[in-house]
Amino acid sequence: MRIGVLAVQGAFAEHEQMLRALGAECFEIRQRADLSGQMDGLVLPGGESTVMGKLLRELGLLQPLWEKIESGLPVLATCAGLILLAERISGEEGRHLGTLPVTVKRNAYGRQLGSFYAEAEMKHIGMVPMHFIRAPYVETAGSGVEVLAEVDGRIVAVQYQNQLALSFHPEVSGDASVHRYFLRMCENRII
Ligand code: GLN
Repeated sequence: MRIGVLAVQGAFAEHEQMLRALGAECFEIRQRADLSGQMDGLVLPGGESTVMGKLLRELGLLQPLWEKIESGLPVLATCAGLILLAERISGEEGRHLGTLPVTVKRNAYGRQLGSFYAEAEMKHIGMVPMHFIRAPYVETAGSGVEVLAEVDGRIVAVQYQNQLALSFHPEVSGDASVHRYFLRMCENRII
């Protein structure tokens, strides 16, 4: 299993550590040439979505990644990664990859609640520790989008075919269950 981790900005190293601990091989995506080898899955980490989106465009990565996701490459997107995937960003004009039919709200928890911790049931997985860091949430989910978890009535995890997208940061929790589930998606890729 060879997983590409977008490494232009943000919390990519923690994902690599967790995936390697589960036996996957990881490589970092920093430029177009990095996309030429075998890739069984893609991780879009947390960070700052405006910066990452800008770098994806400047580095010529936006279009090839869009094509790979559209053709079924399994993707795990966390926090800013969820914003990169979203079809619509609440209150903003533009979008980045736009492959996930949801509307996300950025920095959705206000100043005081910028960062917090919760535990919640995640469909297909079980109880999951969730670290939220200036997190977005999913305001509306389009048809075909499966809601996997909610916290305080807000959608924080969704799956749409090959795309698994989370508001929170599973890579900092020490709990590998979300990454294990993602690697199963990569193994079972059928699309
Ligand atoms: N607030 C960031 C954004 O809007 C996301 C935060 C994160 O990835 N931890 O892109």
